[in-house]
Amino acid sequence: MKILVLNCGSSSLKYQLINMEDESVLAKGLCERIGIENSRIKHEGKGKYENICNMKDHKDAIKMVIDALLNPDYGVIKSIDEVNAVGHRVVHGGEFFSESVIVTEEVKKSLEECVELAPLHNPANILGINVCEELLKGKPQVAVFDTAFHQTMPEKAYLYAIPYEYYEKYKIRRYGFHGTSHRYISQRLSEIINKPLEELKVITCHLGNGASVCAIKNGKSVDTSMGFTPLEGLVMGTRSGDLDPAIIPYLCEKENMSVKEVEKVLNSKSGVLGVSCVSSDFRDIEDAVSKGDKKAESALELFYYRVAKYIGSYAAAMNGVDAIIFTAGLGENSPETRQNICNYLNYLGVQIDDQKNNCRGKETIISTENSKTSVYCIPTNEELVIARDTKCLLDK
Ligand code: ADP
Repeated sequence: MKILVLNCGSSSLKYQLINMEDESVLAKGLCERIGIENSRIKHEGKGKYENICNMKDHKDAIKMVIDALLNPDYGVIKSIDEVNAVGHRVVHGGEFFSESVIVTEEVKKSLEECVELAPLHNPANILGINVCEELLKGKPQVAVFDTAFHQTMPEKAYLYAIPYEYYEKYKIRRYGFHGTSHRYISQRLSEIINKPLEELKVITCHLGNGASVCAIKNGKSVDTSMGFTPLEGLVMGTRSGDLDPAIIPYLCEKENMSVKEVEKVLNSKSGVLGVSCVSSDFRDIEDAVSKGDKKAESALELFYYRVAKYIGSYAAAMNGVDAIIFTAGLGENSPETRQNICNYLNYLGVQIDDQKNNCRGKETIISTENSKTSVYCIPTNEELVIARDTKCLLDK
């Protein structure tokens, strides 16, 4: 069985074709700048292929992907019929979906209802589904949600302390994101240590451009740092994370900005970019720190401190923690980040082995044998989860 995994962003499309016999990636790639000048496709299959071409919308992009998969030189399939199904990453499933589903007309209606909750992401996801229905007629489509894994959170974790009617009227609550990633790395941990997740208290730290922490007790998400939107929680590349809501009207007044403008500042000009005034990319900031840049140093300190505070609060929420896992761009590739966060965790008996921690992008236990809480680096694989869920639903 071959499954096409699609992750449609507002102007980008990431894809993988996965052979489910051995879970190998047959081809993968990226379409960028969809709907903008100089859109391009980067494809890796039997061979590599890169082309600047005009993709005016997601339909053009998906056509380009299909062409690339079928190409005799760099493609990997002879006929589109070799693709058995399509798995789509969908950002927001609201309270409708606590697991992945086969897309039906009814599912699509619920997805539309979630657009208000994720106006930047869900429309592109829905578009991807519609285009596939047209271009890959009759192939089952599955939606895998970023929010689904966190639907197990108890009310005390997901309710905000604002008038209850706003939850009832507008569904304002904590949803959480990166669920596919948190689920995958916690499952991998259970496989690596050969212990059922039902017996474990795990804190997973997905630290990429977007970043979130999740408390997983007995295999279920019981709390997570992103909230109603992916703006809450950790300090991120360009997002502020937690702040006093009173800052928003204050800034509106002082800077003569609209609420929308302030929201944009908090989403795209804040985080480590905002504090460092250098970059949203942690590599650039680490470089600046090594050259003595004080603001860059402050930005990193803020970032580490916030992650450590969340780990502490989730250890409290679960009354203990057996393992802490780092993943995503920064969590997988930056020993400095893992070390600096773990420096705050002596009280949990965390001891990091410097040599083991000097790893990038591979599954490694980075704590010492005597460490009371184990610490791991586990690369995430959201595409594989999407493909597995898709297969699982088809098998049913
Ligand atoms: P997203 O999927 O949210 O866009 P990623 O998980 O790909 O993000 O993470 C991207 C971030 O990871 C980059 O912004 C960069 O700061 C960080 N990163 C990647 N590799 C390294 C590295 N070797 N050292 C430090 N930071 C890194």
